[in-house]
Amino acid sequence: MQTIPSVERLQKGPVAICECLQSIPCNPCADACPRRAITVREINDCPVIDEDNCNGCGLCMTHCPGLAIFVVDYTYSQDQSIVRIPYEFFPLPQVGVSISALNRRGECVGMAQVIRVQKSPNKTNVLWLAVPDELVMEVRAIRLQEEQ
Ligand code: SF4
Ligand code: SF4
Repeated sequence: MQTIPSVERLQKGPVAICECLQSIPCNPCADACPRRAITVREINDCPVIDEDNCNGCGLCMTHCPGLAIFVVDYTYSQDQSIVRIPYEFFPLPQVGVSISALNRRGECVGMAQVIRVQKSPNKTNVLWLAVPDELVMEVRAIRLQEEQ
């Protein structure tokens, strides 16, 4: 079951958020975590992240076939946070561009700036997006068309 990290945990730095809500036989996220911070008790159970043990490295994201894990970092700057999203489309956006930030329903909720494009050979690429603090729990996708 997904949980939202406490404010205290968010203020300590990057942390993974798992939005994997379906009972499916899957667990590569748990196998990928070097800190053993992800538990999938039975193979059909939803993963649970031990947020205090997670350091936000993001390895689990690149191994998740469901694109269901995100990493957020509230400590990026005074008024902006980072949300890292898995991204399997091409072309990849350029670092520095501003793009439409979408919520879980595909609705535009504002703008995001791409601050890093993390390529993962044979795994899922990851985009690092700077967004206003208030959008970090909203932004889960992007749209490139109008901005490129
Ligand atoms: S971000 Fe890193 S430490 Fe946290 S759950 Fe994923 S693999 Fe483990
Ligand atoms: S790898 Fe992804 S889809 Fe599979 S259990 Fe983990 S979070 Fe869910």
